Amino acid sequence: MSQVKEICDFCGAPNPKFKIECKTFQVKSDIEPRLEINSIDEWMSCELCYIIVKENNREKLLDRSISEFISRNPTAAQFKDELKKEVAILQAGFWKNKL
Ligand SMILES: [Zn+2]
Repeated sequence: MSQVKEICDFCGAPNPKFKIECKTFQVKSDIEPRLEINSIDEWMSCELCYIIVKENNREKLLDRSISEFISRNPTAAQFKDELKKEVAILQAGFWKNKL
């Protein structure tokens, strides 16, 4: 069972068209170790992120996720390094559990 989602799980773009199969996993936040982040089943992906995943370009995917997030949430720019660390942990889980 998966929820209906309307944004790309990587970059937040609306109406993602692709699904990337992934096992459910859990990661611990680096900033707040008591916080556990759950990833349930597949990840939704826009076309561009899908291509980057197919290329296995982890660095590019991470950079895109961060820059897209900040372009949508400009105040997050001041936390860019922390944000990048957290997203890197989550995406590392994705790469490990991707089917
Ligand atoms: Zn995307």
